[in-house]
Amino acid sequence: MAEAAQSLKPPEPAGQPILQLRNVDRIFDSFAAVDRITLDIYEREFFTIVGPSGSGKTTMVRMLVGMDKPTNGDILLRGERINDVPANRRPTCMVFQSLALFPHRTVGQNIEFPLKMRGVDAATRRKRALELLDQLRLPQSYYGKMVTQCSGGERQRVALARALAFDPEILFFDEPLSALDYRLRKLLEKELKDIHRETGKTFVYITHSLEEAMVMSDRIGVMNRGRFVQIGTPREIYGSPHSRFVSEFMGEVNVIEVRGEAGAVVDAAGTRFATPVVAADFDTGTLVVRPEDVRFVGAGESADNRLTGVIYNEYLLGSRVQYQVRVGEGQTFLVEKLRDQMPPGGPGSAVTIGWDARDSMVFPASRLQQ
Ligand code: ATP
Repeated sequence: MAEAAQSLKPPEPAGQPILQLRNVDRIFDSFAAVDRITLDIYEREFFTIVGPSGSGKTTMVRMLVGMDKPTNGDILLRGERINDVPANRRPTCMVFQSLALFPHRTVGQNIEFPLKMRGVDAATRRKRALELLDQLRLPQSYYGKMVTQCSGGERQRVALARALAFDPEILFFDEPLSALDYRLRKLLEKELKDIHRETGKTFVYITHSLEEAMVMSDRIGVMNRGRFVQIGTPREIYGSPHSRFVSEFMGEVNVIEVRGEAGAVVDAAGTRFATPVVAADFDTGTLVVRPEDVRFVGAGESADNRLTGVIYNEYLLGSRVQYQVRVGEGQTFLVEKLRDQMPPGGPGSAVTIGWDARDSMVFPASRLQQ
């Protein structure tokens, strides 16, 4: 029982690194698509690489699976240099968005393919394929079904079953869910997290979507322009972003351009904001507040920072509602609340909004020249 409970815990990054990058570059002409990256990925970890289009995610994963080689630096698998080991001789497997299934074969034939390549006998292959169907929550009756008769979500599960049949030590995923509709994607995200835990393999996943990364990952690496700008647990990345870029990548945020003078954070109009302590003065920077940390402040209620404005839009987001509040000439604040935390009135109403110093983040862009 104690053992079962333990296996449910996410792996500790303090375990053994399985994959290591040491000063890895990939340079095309003179452009560094991956720029001197050093990184350890740990045994049994679910590590997700997120970043905007063109940040270098695919280039990096192509090197990790052996489809491309670094221009400089080393890639180590359990301490052994693997830069020159081709993809088919690495204990890794890639699941693509395009799936690369054989369309004119059955589900069973697709899943068994890697086993057949290794000369495994038919009875053992079938037994393993049926086990994998169970594991991927597909009925065993699908064994004889043509892949073309499966839905998008089912094909995705078949592709994952086939990848697991290779019995790789590390599975790489390149945006495997991006072509699916929202509901199915949400379901498969959760299933993938369970499958990761059940198989005990190392998963390396790339996506544009930080939301997807947050649901599944043990750690997330946020890439920009060929480098990791922050690596941490989902909680760290969300709660303590190191930069404006990471905080904005996490979703919609309120941003105020500010400067720091004698310990105070001030905007262009001279409004002083209560913020966490800022270490040094700076002449340009940003103050960031998440929409869910801004509240409507009623008479007699307190908030470290207060602004008055007018609600001019409200958007229903399901269980939450987002309000756009115009607080000054052309300046808009987003406020996101649960449906039962309604503002005093609808669009057109004058409101006071506020937030506490601890709920804001300050990112100096350039230090004041002393
Ligand atoms: P996306 O999310 O859009 O797939 P990405 O983060 O995976 O983007 P990459 O495909 O790794 O980004 O590309 C990173 C940069 O390297 C881009 O500017 C791209 O144009 C460039 N690049 C990638 N492959 C090559 C190549 N073979 N030759 C030249 N430039 C390349």
